[in-house]
Amino acid sequence: MPVLVMKFGGTSVATLDRIRRAAKRVGVEVAKGYDVIVIVSAMSGKTNELVGWVGETSKFYDAREYDAVVSSGENVTAGLMALTLQEMDVPARSWQGWQVPLKTNSAHSQARIEEIPTDNINAKFAEGMRVAVVAGFQGISPEGRITTLGRGGSDTTAVAFAAAFDAERCDIYTDVDGVYTTDPRITDKARKLDKIAFEEMLELASLGAKVLQTRSVELAMRFGVRLRVLSSFEEQSDEAGTLVCAEEDIMENRPVSGIAFSRDEAKMTLISIADRPGIAAAIFGPLAEAGINVDMIVQNISEEGRTDMTFSCPVDQVARAEKALNTAKEAGDINFHALVADTNVAKVSAVGIGMRSQSGVAAQMFKTLSDEGINIRVIATSEIKISVLIDRKYMELAVQALHDTFELEKA
Ligand code: ASP
Ligand code: MG
Repeated sequence: MPVLVMKFGGTSVATLDRIRRAAKRVGVEVAKGYDVIVIVSAMSGKTNELVGWVGETSKFYDAREYDAVVSSGENVTAGLMALTLQEMDVPARSWQGWQVPLKTNSAHSQARIEEIPTDNINAKFAEGMRVAVVAGFQGISPEGRITTLGRGGSDTTAVAFAAAFDAERCDIYTDVDGVYTTDPRITDKARKLDKIAFEEMLELASLGAKVLQTRSVELAMRFGVRLRVLSSFEEQSDEAGTLVCAEEDIMENRPVSGIAFSRDEAKMTLISIADRPGIAAAIFGPLAEAGINVDMIVQNISEEGRTDMTFSCPVDQVARAEKALNTAKEAGDINFHALVADTNVAKVSAVGIGMRSQSGVAAQMFKTLSDEGINIRVIATSEIKISVLIDRKYMELAVQALHDTFELEKA
């Protein structure tokens, strides 16, 4: 029988009542003839609570025990979902990650999936079981310890199962009814997209549209898993939600598909560093070692052998970045006159695969911001994205203006 993967996020399993609703959706697909693999998150808020408990217990905690604790939320919902399905006379049972086993590497709290053997679950399907409920977000390391896949990781669990079982589709049930042109809380003109390309979704996901874990989209792209994002709170048809798919499956060709943003950015500038071979490596090496997620980088024109280097990173990493750079300075590896941090910036990006073939998108974006009197602090571009760093207080205005100028409200 064809396999379908259905993933239910935290809000979709937040109460016993919601678990019942989700189970009914699963029942509909079973009735259509699918063998279903259900991936569940923990009840909403549960993982945050568990993470908090770990922090309160131990400041520099053992990551293996962190994983033991924070993975437990999914165990509860997996068992409850299986019980609910059994109550509906649907043959179902639950699996924790280690039982499958979902094998990962040993990078606790950020583990990567290495292998998902299918024989265990397939044997049960062959015996007549119709639904395998699997606890998302967790696996087992080569050392036999419980691992977790990073926050939002059950999306990645779902896609990995869809790839391993060659599923017809991977449906991600969440509290929004799809992927939007931008966050509807910022403009009510935001429109749900019927389809979006993997590449676009990757840009939107990593730019702060928090619908799917970035790694889940990377994985879906690599294995060609058709991914559908839809709401568990509405009656659903087969066309509901947003399909994340290959570029070739998308007919409409507009330059920009969505406006993404990230509110909590910081801009850091090293003033007057020596402009010599190896200087960038000397700066960004220590930052990488300190785990700083550097995003945009700009090196200015140099004068008399000295230049300024600017980069952006999440605002909550500024203190760590400062420490890493000052340590490198003390060690004599780099030399700068001053390190200036601006913690009041936000990043706004226009994303679209259509940019590859249409020119003038950047010019239109800059003109729009200029008409609104918004100063651009840093610009970065890729093939399908233009990002600007601006003062945070103008972020909403910029998103609304760009949404208008690229006519994203129109289908
Ligand atoms: N429960 C985990 C988290 O909150 C994993 C997930 O829901 O995707 O991050
Ligand atoms: Mg999520």
